[in-house]
Amino acid sequence: MTAVAIGALLYEGKAKRVFATDQPDLVAVEYKDDATAFNALKKAQLTGKGALNCRISALVFEHLQRGGIPTHYLGVRDSLWMMVRPVRVIPVEVVVRNIAAGSLCRQMPIAAGSRLEPPLIDLYYKDDAFGDPLLSEARLERLALVSPEELNSIRAMALRVNIALGELFSQVGLELVDFKIELGFTGTGELVVADEISPDTCRLWDRAISDSEDRILDKDRFRQDLGGVVEAYGEVLKRVQGVCPEPRVYG
Ligand code: UDP
Repeated sequence: MTAVAIGALLYEGKAKRVFATDQPDLVAVEYKDDATAFNALKKAQLTGKGALNCRISALVFEHLQRGGIPTHYLGVRDSLWMMVRPVRVIPVEVVVRNIAAGSLCRQMPIAAGSRLEPPLIDLYYKDDAFGDPLLSEARLERLALVSPEELNSIRAMALRVNIALGELFSQVGLELVDFKIELGFTGTGELVVADEISPDTCRLWDRAISDSEDRILDKDRFRQDLGGVVEAYGEVLKRVQGVCPEPRVYG
């Protein structure tokens, strides 16, 4: 196995740290146990969350790749590390909603739990200083964050991810309510899914449970102080790994 040496810290986010490595086309992402919500106004340490999200993300990225969706993911190393291609992340959070929940219901007269068909795509400007505001197409154009053609590719990719994730989670009795992805460009200009896809970034409900709190298996357990956050993430991993191959080890 090629030993990859971890280099300098490039970036520290709320849930992950990104490091350079001794290889130019490789960066290492370390998943942290830190949990944050409401733009980091609420914080906690949840022992085991980092390892669970690293593994769930790895399985999900591999599922997307098997479906022909490009991602930055290359493999895992130990329990907390994911090896990925370096990308220029577009500072836009792309949210796809299948069922109304969260901010959509706080901001719009849309009943929580109503099905959104076709799925709703919301774009947010990724900048904590501004509180990640909802973008309009005009604002997106004004900020020149992406070209109109790139925006079309981003929307198309988000819908493909939605279908692939929906298939995976429904196989294991989970309802994909909504999720957030981040996209980026590789050194060769390829648009890929980056960041992570985990119960921190998806709303997932247990289809076998009708109680509106008991069914929650995602970060809403932390946001709403429902307890059992790590246990819920563990349940998601147990189910997903039951239908996925072991994640590949990088090196
Ligand atoms: N989300 C995320 N990071 C963010 C904001 C949202 O991963 O900074 C995810 C969130 O977990 C949910 C989806 O995107 O699965 C939609 O979130 P929403 O806009 O409803 O915001 P919230 O209710 O979390 O404030």
